[in-house]
Amino acid sequence: MDEARPTTDGIAFERGRILALGDGPARAAARSSGGRVVDLGGRVVVPGLIDGHLHLELGGQALLRLDLSKARSRGAFESAIRERAATLARDGRPDAWLVAGGWNEDDYPGRTTPDRTWLAGAGDRPAVAWRMDHHACVVNDAVLDAIRATHGSAALEHDPDGGRIERDGSGRPTGLLQEAAAWRLVSPLVPSPTIDERREAVLLAHRYLASLGVTAVGSMEYASILREAIEPMRNAFDVRMRVTILDRDWPADGRFDRTIAACIEGIRQDELLGIVGMKAFIDGTLGSRTARMLEPYEGLSGSDALGLFVELALPDERGRSHLEPWLRAVRAAGRSPSMHAIGDAAVRAALDAIDASDRLDGPNPQPARIEHAQTVHPDDLPRFKGRWASMQPLHKAFDARSALERLGPKRMDRFFPFRSLKRHGARLAFGSDWPIVSPDPILGLRAAITGRDIDEVVCRPEENLDPREALAAYTVDAAACLGLADAGVLREGAFADCTVLDRDPYGCDWVRTPPAVVATFMGGRRTYAAEEGDGGAMSAPSAR
Ligand SMILES: [Zn+2]
Repeated sequence: MDEARPTTDGIAFERGRILALGDGPARAAARSSGGRVVDLGGRVVVPGLIDGHLHLELGGQALLRLDLSKARSRGAFESAIRERAATLARDGRPDAWLVAGGWNEDDYPGRTTPDRTWLAGAGDRPAVAWRMDHHACVVNDAVLDAIRATHGSAALEHDPDGGRIERDGSGRPTGLLQEAAAWRLVSPLVPSPTIDERREAVLLAHRYLASLGVTAVGSMEYASILREAIEPMRNAFDVRMRVTILDRDWPADGRFDRTIAACIEGIRQDELLGIVGMKAFIDGTLGSRTARMLEPYEGLSGSDALGLFVELALPDERGRSHLEPWLRAVRAAGRSPSMHAIGDAAVRAALDAIDASDRLDGPNPQPARIEHAQTVHPDDLPRFKGRWASMQPLHKAFDARSALERLGPKRMDRFFPFRSLKRHGARLAFGSDWPIVSPDPILGLRAAITGRDIDEVVCRPEENLDPREALAAYTVDAAACLGLADAGVLREGAFADCTVLDRDPYGCDWVRTPPAVVATFMGGRRTYAAEEGDGGAMSAPSAR
């Protein structure tokens, strides 16, 4: 990924950095410092893979909660719920909530959306099952009762701003809550994990990511979790973390600066952990039809047909959104504003806010990141020139299955325009959004390179990237997007972060035999090595 030196045949590490490149110089460096030489036997070393957008602590929690992503029918969903309820009962935890996640109605015959009856196996125990995108959840009667008890008996009678409560023919909640309805009514009721459980989740997440070849992440976290569960574990990190703060309880007086300062205060910025920016949500998701579109969703009419603007993007009494003052305040604090925008109207709102910030304050070195950019109107493509689109190829692979049904044929040219964005000068940083989908970067690379969705149907191949472009978005460009100057590239003086693959990513067949990760190094320390028969073991030096 170093344009001045695209390939080499040897590499030497010292004290967490790259000391020398080239077989001769690397061997000489090893000799003079008494280092060990490892022959990789023709395997290929690439810069350590970087996931530009995930939720590390939540991902660790997802490794601990009930995973419904493999339940491909109502029956499988229900039996998973029953089994987990039985386990909780057996463990002597009568009051514990049953927390599950990962469902997706696209997986079920007829695309039926779950309702509270699917959770019957939980009995009287409160049960919540999050949709894979975390923008909706289904809850049982015990939770609906708890919402009424906490938020008042009328809490479920009207949709909250930026949210939706699904109702049946008689007006009764079905148990499905979307966006703000899920976040504001349900999330606060779910008992939080203890600090020890969160720390366990953080460590589990680090180990898991290293096993996938990941050496650095852009992670979305709440400031309190960063302080209590992440920062104290920094000596055990396997991946570098560049955190974007999710806190967004903005004061009514519009003093964003104070809240931002409070969130970032006291976190030491170093090579392992730092705060890169702040997050704002402009809309929801395509899957939940809550992403904000310029034109109605296919087959919808009425007030819901365009999806939703949420939070700072909701107009105030004077009809103004608060995105632009927020964005300027984040940049003024020396951080990178990150805006969740999936619908083409939300992407346009993000671009408008960046334009306004640039116009009022001049060019700013803090990259404004548009997260997801899953649909972009053709008129807005040129507006991405020199700007960051932080995208998730595996989201394309999941959403492709229902994109036509959501968008209709005339708008499919707006869906995940990787190559069109690049052609217009956008900078692409790739990631996963784990735990919404798998953080396995090989799966993401494959989706970006082949255009295949998770049913192996090719979707919009004209937007495919070549392996080098896709790898750049997972390494050198993701690093630049996250302000990690010394990562994402194998160059003398850069971090000794690298991923060893069993085959050449530029020469392999990405459809049939994509590469497998054999080993991962972060700061010169081996953080993962495949087991024998697991893609091939590698004898590697001890950590030094
Ligand atoms: Zn996310």
